[in-house]
Amino acid sequence: MAKHFDYICIGGGSGGIASANRAAMYGAKVAIIEAKALGGTCVNVGCVPKKVMWHGAQIAEAIHLYAKDYGFNVDVKEFSWAKLVENREAYISRIHASYDNVLGNNNVEVINGFATFVDAKTITVNGEHYTADHILIAVGGEPSIPNVPGAEHGIDSNGFFKLVEQPKRTAIVGAGYIAVEIAGVLSALGTDTHLFVRKESPLRSFDPMIVDTLVEVMAAEGPTLHTHSIPKEVVKEADGSITLHFEDGKSHNTDLLIWAIGRHPTTDKINLQAAGVETNARGYIKVDQYQQTNIDGIYCVGDIMEGGIELTPIAVKAGRQLSERLFNNKPEAKMDYKLVPTVVFSHPPIGTIGLTTQEAIDQYGEENVKVYQSGFTSMYTAITTHRQPCKMKLVCAGADEKVVGLHGIGYTVDEMIQGFGVAIKMGATKADFDSVVAIHPTGSEEFVTMR
Ligand code: FAD
Ligand code: NDP
Repeated sequence: MAKHFDYICIGGGSGGIASANRAAMYGAKVAIIEAKALGGTCVNVGCVPKKVMWHGAQIAEAIHLYAKDYGFNVDVKEFSWAKLVENREAYISRIHASYDNVLGNNNVEVINGFATFVDAKTITVNGEHYTADHILIAVGGEPSIPNVPGAEHGIDSNGFFKLVEQPKRTAIVGAGYIAVEIAGVLSALGTDTHLFVRKESPLRSFDPMIVDTLVEVMAAEGPTLHTHSIPKEVVKEADGSITLHFEDGKSHNTDLLIWAIGRHPTTDKINLQAAGVETNARGYIKVDQYQQTNIDGIYCVGDIMEGGIELTPIAVKAGRQLSERLFNNKPEAKMDYKLVPTVVFSHPPIGTIGLTTQEAIDQYGEENVKVYQSGFTSMYTAITTHRQPCKMKLVCAGADEKVVGLHGIGYTVDEMIQGFGVAIKMGATKADFDSVVAIHPTGSEEFVTMR
């Protein structure tokens, strides 16, 4: 006999946990199925361990780049990568415990194992069958590895979080969030780090002001950036080192190679055909604006949905909205995928929401777009011999100068963007920004004093 639930969430990551808890809070009988560890990518091999490493790197920077000019004569006896990793993993264990508690308090049944579909209403895990009126697919993605000879000699972001020793030399291939973040962390912690991008720069979809400033800081602080570098082959040498050969004939020898070239959905492993759920050619599940797949009673949120945005708060919010709709009598509840703020935990951090200058010009016409910009040395580094730039930009459109894009890179920008996101979601204009009294002395005051 199959055990029956109102709602089964496949995948105990950001989307699955959020949706399961919200449904259970409205009285639904809910199960969540997780193959590995609760918390999914974000908690175990994503946002959380990454941010801890980034904090570690910030401390290294403070010691090596700035402490002396603030009057501290610091003599670092040792940096223990192992200690940092131990404390990071202990923190993650506490997050697991907290998930167990919350799910338990909400009476969500946690099923450990790998779920596959039997049919559109039935799931099997470890030989047991489970049925549900509603099924959420939130199985997330995994890192992609390029199809070049010797690619197996490299690791991916999951492998990065398994490192128990600091690598002396590392090459990172990729140009997105993960490549930039991991390269920044390793470089700041003292690894000789080389970032290889296949085109002209990393983060190409970001506003050029951001990219140019990031590249400028990389040139001053590291990692070493190599552009137009397309990997052709990877060779493991007799001494254990790795040589990366590129299509232009250049090569690079390193101790560790990390691929960070994007991620792909894991939907090919769950027997979706048995349920009849449609995906696109790359395995992303097609959903309507209510997260509904082509099959009644089956939904999808998070990294595996077609046209989605691979961020934890997106999976969380979409999962919660779905449960509001299904279990709290809110037929119109749905996720709004527009104007999503995001931060890259690079060195220095990047924060952005809305349109780049070019996107605004394409959408509104050049004559209707006005850009305000500010560039300065962050006060944190203004008294030190090592200076770091901070750049900010407002992209405004129309006669009322509605702020349609806000971008920043520099010290503490990561903590500035959330509040401005509220203003921009509300449709704030440049005049609204100007009407706010600046908080002095801060970096964020620049956003309300631009001329
Ligand atoms: P996931 O969190 O990936 O969860 C899916 C879960 O499903 C996994 O636990 C998996 O084990 C489980 N699963 C898969 N198949 C099955 C099955 N058949 N049966 C049972 N369980 C299954 N986002 C941010 O917003 N901020 C950040 O700073 C950030 N940093 C990141 C850093 C890195 C290195 C990475 C890789 C990602 C980062 N992200 C960040 C992205 C974020 O982690 C993802 O967008 C988010 O985790 C997606 O949530 P999800 O619910 O779709 O999937
Ligand atoms: P992304 O998709 O962001 O970036 C990968 C990039 O690598 C591509 O855009 C491409 O850039 C380059 N690339 C693709 N294929 C190859 C190849 N064969 N060889 C060399 N370079 C290649 O993927 P990530 O893995 O960095 O991150 C996945 C997602 O996770 C992010 O998009 C983000 O949504 C999320 N994330 C969020 C974070 C945050 O919020 N701070 C942190 C980390 C991840 P190009 O075309 O320019 O070469």
